[in-house]
Amino acid sequence: MRVYCTAAGDLVPLEAKPRLTIYVCGLTPYDSMHLGHVALLLLYDVLARRLRSLGSEVVLVRNVTDVDDPLLERAQEVGVPFWELVNGEIAQMSADNATLDLPATVEPRASEHIEDMAAMVGELLDKGLAYTVDGWTYFAVDTDPEFGRLFGLSLDERIRLARERGGFPDRPGLRNPLDFVLWQPSRPGEPEYETALGRGRPGWHIGCSVMSRKHLGDHIDVHGGGEDLIFPHHECEAAQNRSVADGSAVSIWLHAVHVAYDGYKMSKSRGNIVLARTVLAERDARVLRLAVLSRYHHRRGFEWHNDFLDDAESLLDRLIQARAQGRGPGGDEYAVRCLDRIDDDLDFPAAVGVLAEWATTILDDPAGWSGDRLAEVAEVLGLDLSAPRTSPRR
Ligand SMILES: [Zn+2]
Repeated sequence: MRVYCTAAGDLVPLEAKPRLTIYVCGLTPYDSMHLGHVALLLLYDVLARRLRSLGSEVVLVRNVTDVDDPLLERAQEVGVPFWELVNGEIAQMSADNATLDLPATVEPRASEHIEDMAAMVGELLDKGLAYTVDGWTYFAVDTDPEFGRLFGLSLDERIRLARERGGFPDRPGLRNPLDFVLWQPSRPGEPEYETALGRGRPGWHIGCSVMSRKHLGDHIDVHGGGEDLIFPHHECEAAQNRSVADGSAVSIWLHAVHVAYDGYKMSKSRGNIVLARTVLAERDARVLRLAVLSRYHHRRGFEWHNDFLDDAESLLDRLIQARAQGRGPGGDEYAVRCLDRIDDDLDFPAAVGVLAEWATTILDDPAGWSGDRLAEVAEVLGLDLSAPRTSPRR
């Protein structure tokens, strides 16, 4: 297959092999999962399913950033203690993931890797690649000649993005405005850890370096996350990894663009969100999966409309019916066409389009076409056609 790599700026080959690793920067548990998150999780889920169908053992690591700046703000806004918010949101997220059948091999939490993070920061300090000002420890980007080259962004653009996304380019004492936080003092209400570095908590980026290296080692086949993580998060993670291990590398950076709703990116801050659990309370989880897959391409995104759910529901019914009725030999040509669409940069809408056409063909001539073959290919998209559709609360 081939997929678009953000660092290469082009489509690159991705071959199945005995063991393949995927690391996804998952959710920050400060709010419930909305359909933008669902689209992102589905991208890597179907990628993993397809690679498994080609014979690879796929290790999918999807982290949970449970120690980070926005969590305290959110906890204060809703008036609950930090861990009550975080653990509650993680429980809800796990339930949504289970309902949507979005498994991961490992779901590491940042808070469970604090010692390793402190050790990595200590190593960067020992190597002279980091420095401390007023209790804050920063990575010195000037020590890394590769810093900033990964995604081809201009210096102005990087400074703008750092300012927008958790960096402090204007802070006095920085040797370079793009130097980023490795370790910092905890604010009142935030978790505080006693480590070899002293008391405090890790910065955002160091967590993903530690969790990816611990669970997958120096090399990652596919590194994913939302497009808003390209800079600074992924550039910083790569810089940290290079600094502790020569030859540390990611083969393919596969980013997911956002989903829009009411004209804007679906986001908690704007309030234009549709929660996964709201939809799942009323619809079969396969309806939601199909509604998103039938519209979502990871490089184009799409704008969500609630009536997509009705379209997906009737398509699911037709697929289930076609699977049950088809009893002939035919289907290979549809299977090839559908899988080709997935293999060509994960074009889910086109793949679902082939499934829809295939179902119609089967229902027109059940004696000529195989329902089992349809079901086999639908499995690659995470759709089990053997069970009748459920209607949770309708
Ligand atoms: Zn990350």
